[in-house]
Amino acid sequence: MAVIIQKYGGSSVANPERIKVVAGRVIETKKAGYDTVVVLSAIGNTTDELIKLAHRIADSPSHREIDVLISTGEQVSVALLAMAVNSLGCEAISFTGPQIGIVTDNVHTRARIVKIEPEKIVNELSLGRIVIVAGFQGITQDSEITTLGRGGSDLTAVALGAVLKAEVVEIYTDVEGVYTADPRVAKDARKLPVISYDEMLEMASLGTQVMQSRAVEFAKRFDVPVHVRSSFSKDTGTLIREEAKSMEKIVVRGVTVDKNDAKVSLLGIPDRPGIAALIFKRLADEDINIDIIVQNASEGGKSDISFTVMGDELKRTVEVTEKIAKDIGAKRVSSDKDIAKVSIVGLGMRSHSGIAAKMFSALASENINIEMISTSEIKTSCIIREKLANKAVRALHAKFGLGKQRKARRKRKK
Ligand code: ADP
Ligand code: ASP
Ligand code: MG
Repeated sequence: MAVIIQKYGGSSVANPERIKVVAGRVIETKKAGYDTVVVLSAIGNTTDELIKLAHRIADSPSHREIDVLISTGEQVSVALLAMAVNSLGCEAISFTGPQIGIVTDNVHTRARIVKIEPEKIVNELSLGRIVIVAGFQGITQDSEITTLGRGGSDLTAVALGAVLKAEVVEIYTDVEGVYTADPRVAKDARKLPVISYDEMLEMASLGTQVMQSRAVEFAKRFDVPVHVRSSFSKDTGTLIREEAKSMEKIVVRGVTVDKNDAKVSLLGIPDRPGIAALIFKRLADEDINIDIIVQNASEGGKSDISFTVMGDELKRTVEVTEKIAKDIGAKRVSSDKDIAKVSIVGLGMRSHSGIAAKMFSALASENINIEMISTSEIKTSCIIREKLANKAVRALHAKFGLGKQRKARRKRKK
């Protein structure tokens, strides 16, 4: 029988009423003739609340204990959904990640899936049951509990989709699909009917929360068709799939913003060969992921290097960079948390010129200063002041004509 995976995010299971709605939807899918596997996130903001709780107990709790703590959220939601389905007269069974053999590496709080042993799920499906799996969690070869990074239930769903060869993985959330920009920021954002894996991957890595970037990467690698849609409506959402030639016609598919960026600057560095190699090797050795790098022109034998990292890595990065500064005789280190990265993403950027210039002029016309720039084949990103981020998104969204067309709206009203 064809397998379908449905993943419901925290807002889709935020309270008992919503859980009952999800139960109804899951049963409908089963009755339509699918082997149905459901992956759940924790209820509402449970994960955030658990992390806050941990930090009220200790300044820097160990990542192992954080994983033991935050993996509990999903165990609650799956048990409740199984009860809801059972009480509607349909058979369901819930499992944690470890119970169904989601084996990961041992990098706590952002573990990678190494393998999945699907026998247990396959067996339950063959007994006619709906299988409900706790998202976001796994177990190491040494029986340690791990989690898969924030938003990791998406990854659980896609990975199960790959091993069970699912017809589709449906990601149910609180918006109707993937939009041209966050619909909470650009009110006229449009739902995209389709998006390529590569565009979605860029958008997710550049701050579009609707799907975890690792999950998109996995879907692309194993060719898993994904449908992002709303648990609050029956409408079709956005299909994420392999690119087709016609997709290149759209120059800019979407605008994204990431407010979790921070900038570190090393000032007054001796300007000689090998210095950049030394700095970034030391940072890499500490497992610090660097995003954009800018080096200023040298003056009097000294130069400055600035780079961006994820905001939650800032404290650690500054500590490491200060040690490097001392060792290489740099003058000082400064840091800045109040930055954001706005980006435009689209396959068509490969074959069109002048797109970056158009982006810069949209920001200039709103008086937004660009502090750093980074480009790749299908995206251009600018670092700007964080407080101007939403204004920038709206300006770019309008400049590239991504919003709903006013004329079309007027026509529909008639
Ligand atoms: P879930 O709890 O279902 O996993 P998330 O909070 O992870 O949901 O993701 C859904 C949110 O992503 C939406 O509420 C929306 O505000 C945000 N979002 C940001 N950018 C976009 C975009 N381009 N399209 C759709 N949603 C977006
Ligand atoms: N509950 C986890 C989180 O909030 C996983 C998820 O929602 O996908 O990050
Ligand atoms: Mg999510």
